[in-house]
Amino acid sequence: MSTKRTLPFAGVIGLLGMLAAAPAHAYCRTSNTTTPTFEGHVCTPSHKDDSGLPLFWGMPRITYSVQMDASKDVPFDTARLAVRTAFDAWTSADCEGQPPRLELIEGAPALCALDEYNKDRGNANIIFFVDEGWSDDTSKLAITTVTFDVNSGEIYDADMALNTTDWPFTTDGAPDGIDLLSVLTHEAGHFVGLSHSPDPEATMTAHYHPPEQLDLSSLAEDDRAGICAMYPPGPIADGCDATPRHGFSSLCAEDQSGPVLDAPPTGERCCCLEGDVCVDGVCVEAPGGCACTTSPAPLGPGVVALHLAALVASLLRRRATGGRRAPAPA
Ligand SMILES: [Zn+2]
Repeated sequence: MSTKRTLPFAGVIGLLGMLAAAPAHAYCRTSNTTTPTFEGHVCTPSHKDDSGLPLFWGMPRITYSVQMDASKDVPFDTARLAVRTAFDAWTSADCEGQPPRLELIEGAPALCALDEYNKDRGNANIIFFVDEGWSDDTSKLAITTVTFDVNSGEIYDADMALNTTDWPFTTDGAPDGIDLLSVLTHEAGHFVGLSHSPDPEATMTAHYHPPEQLDLSSLAEDDRAGICAMYPPGPIADGCDATPRHGFSSLCAEDQSGPVLDAPPTGERCCCLEGDVCVDGVCVEAPGGCACTTSPAPLGPGVVALHLAALVASLLRRRATGGRRAPAPA
């Protein structure tokens, strides 16, 4: 069974159509019913097309890696800072005076520039740029691929690809460029499990119309409500491990041989909330009720990948600029 599936562009259009009739303020989470032709979601308030269980990171501490080559348009240090800023927008959200119970930690740079999840090799949650040969729809600015347990919705891995083949990204507000931080902040929302919001003001809006709408880097109320509901504030144990599943590797699977470069997780796998107990990597209900979010993690079958559509750029804009665009001059 293939563990990777691609969500066609048509599926995205379908989702946008469904959400168009939803209330203006309603954050949506990607759900485990997602298939190659259907982007499942669970919205709050609920929507008639809701289905399945929402995706979530079981561990509150996650390591990501920026791909070391970055882009000819975006130097590595610039990319690092932008990614950091994008994740910070979510992890510093104000949940009634406290941040969400979610930490995103920058790990070693990745050599690998693929969106892959390896069930028998080391992994990394990679942010990378595709300067040449973007193989998906050219209107997509970026794609975040989320691999999850189809039974529980637990996220195993997430990778973010930026389409610098077709679009000129900018970090200085250049009027002819795509604002990198806006795109990264939107994709970071997918990375943590959010789907598109029908709220046009939200960072998670499905539409990006350059140059009119350049700043998605600040969360709207809709986004804030989403991240706070997904990861309610709470303590994170000192020993909580942030190592990717099966250990960290900066290499793609085909370049890995033998054991992974870093040892598999040695710390607390569960990072259970107070009152729960970690047994063999699973939070077990303790007297007084279980508030844990981790679940048994079957490997192999049961894992699929979701190519979330990125911000869908205005088709009019594409036509007006002749479709495929050359990168911005340095
Ligand atoms: Zn999106």
